[in-house]
Amino acid sequence: MKGILVIADGLGGRPTDMDGRTCLEAARTPHLDELTDRGAVGLVDPIGPGIRPGSDTAHLSLLGYNPHELYTGRGVFECLGIGLDVRPGDICFRANFATVEASKDGLRLVDRRAGRIESGQEELAATLGTMRLKTPGVEIQFRASTEHRGALLLRGKDLSPHVSETDPHEVGATMRTAGPTADGAAAKRTAAAVNELTRQSYELLKDLPLNRERAAAGKLPANILLVRGAADCPHIPSIPSIYGVRGAVIAGGALYRGVALACGLDSIDVPGATGGLDTDLRAKAEATLAALATYDLVFVHIKGTDNAAHDQNAAAKTAFIERIDAEFIAPLVERIDWKSTHLAFTGDHTTSIDYGDHTADPVPVLFVGPNVRRDDVTSFNEHTAARGGLLRFSGQVLPMLMSLANRCPKFGS
Ligand code: ZN
Ligand code: ZN
Repeated sequence: MKGILVIADGLGGRPTDMDGRTCLEAARTPHLDELTDRGAVGLVDPIGPGIRPGSDTAHLSLLGYNPHELYTGRGVFECLGIGLDVRPGDICFRANFATVEASKDGLRLVDRRAGRIESGQEELAATLGTMRLKTPGVEIQFRASTEHRGALLLRGKDLSPHVSETDPHEVGATMRTAGPTADGAAAKRTAAAVNELTRQSYELLKDLPLNRERAAAGKLPANILLVRGAADCPHIPSIPSIYGVRGAVIAGGALYRGVALACGLDSIDVPGATGGLDTDLRAKAEATLAALATYDLVFVHIKGTDNAAHDQNAAAKTAFIERIDAEFIAPLVERIDWKSTHLAFTGDHTTSIDYGDHTADPVPVLFVGPNVRRDDVTSFNEHTAARGGLLRFSGQVLPMLMSLANRCPKFGS
């Protein structure tokens, strides 16, 4: 028995999305409806009722973990997802290129995203790779990802995740100095390293030819690195060790790949999987079908739904849901061996069009496969899912899927 878990990020909606209907209600989804007819649906609170989920904590919870116990911060998952080798003791950060200008009060923030820099990130990363900290025994690794984003880790003895941010979060404000947010030498030492690398990044980047060219072209220079979300490496029991399965993740976004890697899944790279609205969903479907030949569990993350909702674009979210149905779900419906495969489809939270961010509303979830007890629901959306046989539950979608595939360990004797 094989399992496929598909999470469409920010899938859930509110009636304020489109004049009384959610985007999922408005979307035409004949293939999801067919699976719903054959399976069972319900509503899932990604973490718990009334808890507004982040994507990373929601994923941990849906994968069967308790994020209240395990979660240390987003930085670890960003570092893993971007391909850095994270070891116990490392302190991980989310990082981004930004624009600052010198003023009499210090460096003033001009743009937190360096004009959403679109090229040259490799050159900036290579320059940052030459950084050597004076803080003894602390080593830096940095990698750029998309646009202004990247991830950074500090490695060395006696480091701590308890440091404050340098990012003032407000345009026109001066850069902050990182400080320890816990007692002890480790937090002080880490704060010193963060301040040093921030200063050095400005010294190294400000006069780069790339930045002079950007300035000449009327673009904002990427002249400093902002780091935030300090996190140390959590101990997460691996999915293969819990269920005795070989598992893989297919995800365009580094964060989601990172969460899955932290849970012991292998990552499958799919050319054209961008983690955006332009992602190649047919390629992801083909990769899923191919992965089923070698893996017992395939986790597929699809990001575009959330992007459209953060942009408060109901038409784009609806159209993207229709693309998921036609380009990703349809080939699976047709080509999966349904006698030996279970599939779960859900979102990691609601992202409201009107609010433009994640909300705590529960999300529709669908299970289909030979061991699923069918219910009477025949279409897939928030409204119909509330009448489904799975009722309403919190997190735990992967353990439920593994149980249907007869892969769950027994609790007790
Ligand atoms: Zn999300
Ligand atoms: Zn989001």
